[in-house]
Amino acid sequence: MSKIIVFSGASGVGKSTVLKLVMAARPDLRFSVSATTRAPREGEVDGVSYFFVTREEFQGMIDRGELLEYDEHFGNLYGTPISQVTSGGNVVLDIEPNGAFNARKANPKAMLIFITPPSMEELERRLRSRGDTPEDQIADRLERARWEIAQSPKYDHVVVNDELDRCVREILDIIAE
Ligand code: 5GP
Repeated sequence: MSKIIVFSGASGVGKSTVLKLVMAARPDLRFSVSATTRAPREGEVDGVSYFFVTREEFQGMIDRGELLEYDEHFGNLYGTPISQVTSGGNVVLDIEPNGAFNARKANPKAMLIFITPPSMEELERRLRSRGDTPEDQIADRLERARWEIAQSPKYDHVVVNDELDRCVREILDIIAE
């Protein structure tokens, strides 16, 4: 029976690093590639990181009923193509909370895992030290992070990313169930 495992976590929490290690330890998991209207960042590959599409193309996917869920995030659209979760095997989604709850509505057996920072102070420190968020966007990201963290009680599991290896081990234990 294939599993859908949905991860969310505020910007700066280290979610991509955690997920990379989780996926490396569990080669049976397949990453669900989302569609987005945001521009690719350095090193991102179309069809691997995301399907990078125009707003018109994204609207076409909505109109044709091709998306399991979608949401607008900081001015860009993001959505999970249904084809990503129906092609078999265990699949991992990295999506924000609105999408996570819609994914659970569409598929009540989905397991929702929230990765949370040890504290807001630590999240702010990580966000600044990452260096890819302009200073004038930091306050918006933190406000959004506060809202995301406030949603975390609705997740099946909340895992603190205090120490990378420990956090990855805890997730591996949860998904082994
Ligand atoms: P980023 O632009 O940093 O890659 O992602 C921004 C946010 O969009 C992250 O919280 C990420 O989890 C979320 N996201 C990525 N793909 C999807 C998707 O398909 N649906 C939804 N709802 N959110 C997504």
